[in-house]
Amino acid sequence: MYQTVGDTRDAVRNGEITAVESIDEALRQLTSANSEIHSLTEIFEEDARRVAQNIDGRLHAGENLPLAGVPFTVKDNICTPIGKSTAGSRILADFHAPYSATVVDRLLSAGAVCVGKTNLDEFGMGSSTENSAWGPTKNPWKTTHVPGGSSGGAAATAAATRGMIHLGSDTGGSIRQPAAYCGVTGFKPTYGCVSRYGLIAFASSLDQIGCLQASAEECALTLQTIGGHDIADSTSVDRPLPPGLDPLQPRAEGLRIGVPEEYFPEGIDTEISASIDAALERFKEIGATVERVSLPHTVYANPVYVLISAAEASSNLARYDGVHYGHRAADAEGVVDLYSRTRSEAFGAEVQRRVMVGTFVLSSGYYDAFYNKACKVRNLIRRDFDTVFQNVDALVCPTSPVTAFPIGDRIDDPLKLYAVDVLTVPANLAGIPGVSLPAGFSSDSLPIGMQIYGRPFEDDLVLGLAHAFQQATDFHVQRPSVCHWEK
Ligand code: GLN
Repeated sequence: MYQTVGDTRDAVRNGEITAVESIDEALRQLTSANSEIHSLTEIFEEDARRVAQNIDGRLHAGENLPLAGVPFTVKDNICTPIGKSTAGSRILADFHAPYSATVVDRLLSAGAVCVGKTNLDEFGMGSSTENSAWGPTKNPWKTTHVPGGSSGGAAATAAATRGMIHLGSDTGGSIRQPAAYCGVTGFKPTYGCVSRYGLIAFASSLDQIGCLQASAEECALTLQTIGGHDIADSTSVDRPLPPGLDPLQPRAEGLRIGVPEEYFPEGIDTEISASIDAALERFKEIGATVERVSLPHTVYANPVYVLISAAEASSNLARYDGVHYGHRAADAEGVVDLYSRTRSEAFGAEVQRRVMVGTFVLSSGYYDAFYNKACKVRNLIRRDFDTVFQNVDALVCPTSPVTAFPIGDRIDDPLKLYAVDVLTVPANLAGIPGVSLPAGFSSDSLPIGMQIYGRPFEDDLVLGLAHAFQQATDFHVQRPSVCHWEK
């Protein structure tokens, strides 16, 4: 049976099941999935049951808890009050956060129960979850393949379980690309719409918290709880969330959809473009119009992303020095030796590469040539979107030029790995909302993802269009056979 987050919420609310029963079922599914795909870094058996008992007591006393007993997992770069928050890095191997993220607090206040932390590429740097210090996660559709990344643990968990909320983060596609590879719906809200307080920073002008779910409807329900202004994050925007999120209104009738020609690059998997073409026909059948559009600066998006994200990362990661946080090298001789040994020992190769690139592009003499120039081109990319959104309401395109690839296939060639982000990074550079949803399967039974982009703060339209597509199709209800917990 297809069980949604809404079903879990209603069952607890109507007293059909207790919060404890809901959490026991979630723990059973997570334990089974994790044993096959290694998608979680921690599962909170004891703590989750204890919290659920408390929720049952409060419900009994008449308290109104909108998400009572709904289980949720948290990507391990988002701080939680229980367990560790490692960001997939040895440098934070034993880090217990002294405070929790606003998104986590909001879910807990609504009565939801944190059941585990999900695996990720170290500090969110990667597209395959192979950069986790805790070992790779496997794709639940084909366990020889990657789940995408960096929220690969969340995507794989979402695909292999039912009726839970999964929080992720997206700096250049880290929610949408793994969602595409695992056949789930991954949503990156408009920058500023969801608080980043308590997210372990990678590149602050690009980072955004969002969720990975079975459907757009579930994403809307999650956004409704985690979104909205937060004084603890100065980039969080003080405006109400868009209306029509819960229940989510389907939107397609009369909408103008643009298809950016630059988003079908040379070498794109032909099965992916065929699935997007078929989806566009579906959109026409349900009342939308479709036209070709152009975003001419797309070709610069990846290089601009690589420069800006590395620059910001090198600055954000300067705090891991063996003094403030986490791992400290033993037997260091003096402070410089302490910094360098600590960071060499405990950062993985990809993180070190980005810190070096970022330090270089910010250094005197190169700042104008690289970083400043990248910021200017970022504005041109942003302007491309402003221009097309004067004529169309949403953009539809593939999420990734390829489907999930074999573990080990790209990890030794960073440029080959960066190449899979080409269709997702523009949304972060421009700060616009984007969702990836299942739109088909390849001939070797791997999920194909489709992306929808919209205007800033029209997150309801982006999710509404995805919802209308999901009402007309059943790609999103397909689940991999790795769900052995299923009765
Ligand atoms: N794959 C991209 C990178 O490696 C994006 C990661 C992310 O969104 N966190 O930087």
